[in-house]
Amino acid sequence: MPTTRPVSRPAPARDDAPARHETGGAPDGAAGIRRDVVAWFDVHARDLPWRAADRTAWGVLVSEVMLQQTPVVRVEPAWRAWLERWPTPADLAAAPTADVLRAWDRLGYPRRALRLQECARVVVERHGGDLPDDEAALLALPGVGAYTAAAVRAFAFGRRSVVLDTNVRRVLARLAVGEALPSPAQTVAETRLAAAWVPDDAAAAARWSAASMELGALVCTARAPRCDACPVADRCRWLAAGRPADVHAHRRRTQAWAGTDRQVRGRVMALLREALEPVPHDAVAALWPDAAQLARCLDALVADGLVVREDAAGDAPDPAAATYRLPR
Ligand code: SF4
Repeated sequence: MPTTRPVSRPAPARDDAPARHETGGAPDGAAGIRRDVVAWFDVHARDLPWRAADRTAWGVLVSEVMLQQTPVVRVEPAWRAWLERWPTPADLAAAPTADVLRAWDRLGYPRRALRLQECARVVVERHGGDLPDDEAALLALPGVGAYTAAAVRAFAFGRRSVVLDTNVRRVLARLAVGEALPSPAQTVAETRLAAAWVPDDAAAAARWSAASMELGALVCTARAPRCDACPVADRCRWLAAGRPADVHAHRRRTQAWAGTDRQVRGRVMALLREALEPVPHDAVAALWPDAAQLARCLDALVADGLVVREDAAGDAPDPAAATYRLPR
């Protein structure tokens, strides 16, 4: 399907027949649960631009990349501005990399922006500018992993795929397994269970994926699930068990922000995004009091291709004379 043409919404699907995969781990009532979650989705789904009837496959991929580590509320305006500026892979492929990184702005993890541009270039070179719908071809694109390929196949092309993000993992852990939260790392058993819950019909599969994801985002949230507003509360194993504590709690790492390399990298990128000229070392050094940590972060940013360091001419370049800028 051409990347720039609007993708068609999956046809309404009937999912009221007994599930054919229920031997794989889904409970007997899976079809009824799916039907009720999808009916809830039809009423409560957020009106997001990457779900609109005129969305493009490329727009769906951009949304999935942006949403990987950034909340919807921050992604939505960035996505609109991005697609307005670079509506097709060819547009993004031809853009100066510095502009791409500036447009990524504060979405975080800016390597995603670099990978997205590399992806656009490969789509242009290998696929004539149209995002492929084939799983292997999607997986071969820079920055596209198993989750993103599955999501694009489902939400852009209406194909049956197992879309297992953190929201769906949490919903299935509670609803089907009876645990407060899934294990920190995705397991084979969990992937099998998720696959068993996906209907055979492609359109129904895409609806279930979108609906279960939305239920996890809006109702079955990580910290404060609103079970009183849940369409399947009467069939939830975790609720029936009295909402037992998280059995994997001891294996979870809490991610701090203050003082981390991520914070340092974020400060450097923010400074360079604002700069029209290469930034002298002194100005970069003033960003962070720990010189060794700053040097480590600068080296990593240069190695990642996010920052270009230009040393002053000479046999033994003086680090204090170096300048820093975004790649062009
Ligand atoms: S009843 Fe509560 S825990 Fe169970 S699926 Fe619904 S929101 Fe999640």
